[in-house]
Amino acid sequence: MTKGIFPLDQFSGLRTPFYFYDTDLLRKTLQIVKTESEKYNFHVHYAIKANANDRILSIINSYGLGVDCVSGGEIEAAMAAGFSADKIVYAGVGKSDWEIELALDANIQCFNVESIAELEVINSIACSKNKTAKIALRVNPEVDAKTHHYITTGLKENKFGVSMELLDKVLDRAISLSNIELIGLHFHVGSQITDLSVFNDVCTRINIVLKMVEKKGVSIQIINVGGGLGINYQDPNGDPIPDFARYFKIFNENLQVKEGQEVHFEPGRSIVCQCGSLITRVLYIKEGVNKNFCIVDAGMTELIRPALYQAYHLIENISSDEIAEKYEVVGPICESSDCFGKDVELNKAHRGNFIAMRSAGAYGQIMASQYNCRTLPAAYYSEDFK
Ligand SMILES: *Cc1c(COP(=O)(O)O)cnc(C)c1O
Repeated sequence: MTKGIFPLDQFSGLRTPFYFYDTDLLRKTLQIVKTESEKYNFHVHYAIKANANDRILSIINSYGLGVDCVSGGEIEAAMAAGFSADKIVYAGVGKSDWEIELALDANIQCFNVESIAELEVINSIACSKNKTAKIALRVNPEVDAKTHHYITTGLKENKFGVSMELLDKVLDRAISLSNIELIGLHFHVGSQITDLSVFNDVCTRINIVLKMVEKKGVSIQIINVGGGLGINYQDPNGDPIPDFARYFKIFNENLQVKEGQEVHFEPGRSIVCQCGSLITRVLYIKEGVNKNFCIVDAGMTELIRPALYQAYHLIENISSDEIAEKYEVVGPICESSDCFGKDVELNKAHRGNFIAMRSAGAYGQIMASQYNCRTLPAAYYSEDFK
């Protein structure tokens, strides 16, 4: 028996909670990303922070994408999964010396740099190794991503990027340093952007910055527009793949790209989110005063997004066809925020039923913790159940 995409019979012997990845959907998504981006010669680097599971990475690598990393550990994970260093870019507001050394030793494609202080440290480490660090400056384009404030990064008060006011000064410093080669500009305004007109605004701002930089006589080879394309958390069954065709088309139509310039993208969530579900079992139905709690064996330790940013995940009882009832779905962790949803409509739930938390492929497994001395969740893949 399967329920939707889930091979329920094969779940019965497995210890819950675990992540289940629909690798067919992942491959379909990657094929579309590849086809649509190649139409315009766009380069795509997968933002590995969304999910660094080794099987997922090796599938992504097989479609020829590069990787966007934000730590030394991510660079190591990318290389272990077979990505070549010349397709790795390294971003992040706080790079440690050992991470910079690791990236220089590996000969990665580019550092995305966010401040003069960081430029100077990378320059001096590169100098000591007799190397030149290729860098892109991360510019804060001051565009409102119209998304949750925790995941908005492009506003002026944000810690990310160089603000427009300081850009001139930072560019001058970058050009003056002997072991730094400025090759690009980098922009990333936020995550889970579903109003695609935001990307029109991003293009407009980038065009302004490019003009300003050109006036200084700096030649820019790489325009990295970041990630942030959102997905449909409400309807993962009806809308499993984001509209990459429209997304890339917006950039093709609005970004003023010169001969010889490359446009780079860094999607994370939009590639991996819909292929992952967290599978958990119902432990108890607990009667409350005005509601029933559905207590499951997964908690914020396996999927922290609801507790961390009040994120919504579609929750389905995949073991029952009985008439839906309302539950507050909670985990076993000793924190009040360990709640997956209030007023959740589930097919009438019983102890032992399997519950799927959908759209959990991004910022799910990778954020798991061992709080309460729990074991990190296992992962299973649809292609292994055939
Ligand atoms: C997080 C991040 C991304 C990926 O964001 P998604 O919303 O998952 O696409 C891309 N680039 C940078 C610099 C990031 O920090």
